[in-house]
Amino acid sequence: MVCLTLTGNTLEENTETIRKYREYIDLLEVRLDFLRRELLSNMGRIRDLLPLPAIATFRRENDGGQYTGSEEYRIKKLTEAVEAGFAYVDIEYDLDAPALVQLAEEKKCRIIRSFHSFSGIPDNLEDIIIKTASLGNSIPKAAVYPRTSAEALKLLRIIKHMDDIKEKIILGMGDFGFFTRILYRKLGSLLTFCSGESNGGAPGHITPRELRYTFNIDRITSSAAVYGIIGNPVMHSLSPQLHNKGYRKYDLDTVYVPFPVTSVSSFLEFARELDIRGFSVTVPYKQTILPFLVKRDHRTAEAGACNTVLVTGEGLEGWNTDVDGFLEPLRRRLSLSSIRKTAVIGAGGAAAAVVEALKEIDTEIHVFNRTLSKAALFAEKFGVFYHSLDSYRKIAECDLIVQTTSVGMSPDVSKTPVPGYLFSEHQVAYDIIYTPSETVFLKEARNSGCRTINGMEMLVAQGKRQFELFTGMPYPETGA
Ligand code: NAP
Repeated sequence: MVCLTLTGNTLEENTETIRKYREYIDLLEVRLDFLRRELLSNMGRIRDLLPLPAIATFRRENDGGQYTGSEEYRIKKLTEAVEAGFAYVDIEYDLDAPALVQLAEEKKCRIIRSFHSFSGIPDNLEDIIIKTASLGNSIPKAAVYPRTSAEALKLLRIIKHMDDIKEKIILGMGDFGFFTRILYRKLGSLLTFCSGESNGGAPGHITPRELRYTFNIDRITSSAAVYGIIGNPVMHSLSPQLHNKGYRKYDLDTVYVPFPVTSVSSFLEFARELDIRGFSVTVPYKQTILPFLVKRDHRTAEAGACNTVLVTGEGLEGWNTDVDGFLEPLRRRLSLSSIRKTAVIGAGGAAAAVVEALKEIDTEIHVFNRTLSKAALFAEKFGVFYHSLDSYRKIAECDLIVQTTSVGMSPDVSKTPVPGYLFSEHQVAYDIIYTPSETVFLKEARNSGCRTINGMEMLVAQGKRQFELFTGMPYPETGA
């Protein structure tokens, strides 16, 4: 079930949120702690305005809620909620309120007994869940906050140990727990929560529309095949939209999830536990992943960077789709033979893929980098010319300028790696950054009359190739 958490201060606000998302949700959660206090005097009205079964939750401040008043008042209001016909009431796992529990039993209102931790995964979490599940009429709920790959792995293992408990809700908050919100069916949780606004009800909530259209939440089952992307940061990635749109078009029980990673080896254990079939790799792990691969395609071997991993019976197979992804938009725009000289700004993992691609066309390659020693090593490895980043006269000699650093990427969008460089109109400017769609680098080039290419085209092209590797099918021509 997809449960929309309502965090309005007024009933009108909540009604409007429900109206907006009604078609995507199965259940509501009314956060009584967000509502104006005077509205709580008429619990029947609050319930009657809801078009779906609902959970009544009155969360205290130290459990992540807004309520700071007396326990007596809180229990009284929760009791009234049960009386008013809420289908579920959420109380803390250790709350001692026998009258409320008995009333819930009589009224056939299910009790969700919740436990919250905002600092990692407590060692006694399994005990808490098991103990809570053994109480009558109780659905145990744990919401914990993993902050590293190792903690995400710990949470996943606990969830798997709890497989025998049929009705439960175990969710990870924040970016490292995000997978639990998307894979709730696969992980055996009764429901997943979402909000009218991102992070509205809790850290990691996305909107019902995003759950439906970015992650196909209505289609993926407990047997869904899992793919994803690793990186840090990675939650901003547009790859889930691209891949999941393709899965939807083919009606596949498959999902693609962003996995923020602090340790590649912990993630690889996590991937084994979750049976992840393949994943994309982004900054800063395109090189870090190499020692873990048992096989590499020639692009990965030559670029020394891998952006796609397939999990096979023999181990991890590395592919690099950035090379083809980079060339595709160029091929579409110009005759490649017209590019006699190319400037590559940056000498990192992305620059390596770009240079590998450029070697396939007959162009003289010049690399410009902030750290000259790195440029020198890069130039030696790839057999190209190198210069310091401020060698603007040299950049001016090039027909194509490819920007491969992260300078100008969201959120720091006001920067360019070549401040004050004056483009000339015969040059083509290609920035591989895709957020924002027009960086300062590209804007300055466009203002000088240059043809420009942004990173979105490369992202889509490399992602479509990944989709083929993951599914064995071409990316559908038109998404759903
Ligand atoms: P990386 O390996 O960390 O390399 C970063 C490069 O940026 C290095 O050359 C570094 O220079 C330079 N740099 C960083 N901060 C700088 C600054 N303040 N001033 C000047 N130069 C600076 O990262 P990467 O994997 O190459 O990725 C770089 C960018 O490419 C990211 O924004 C990524 O999102 C984008 N990308 C896009 C696509 C796509 O499909 N569109 C694909 C791959 C990557 P130093 O050597 O001096 O540190």
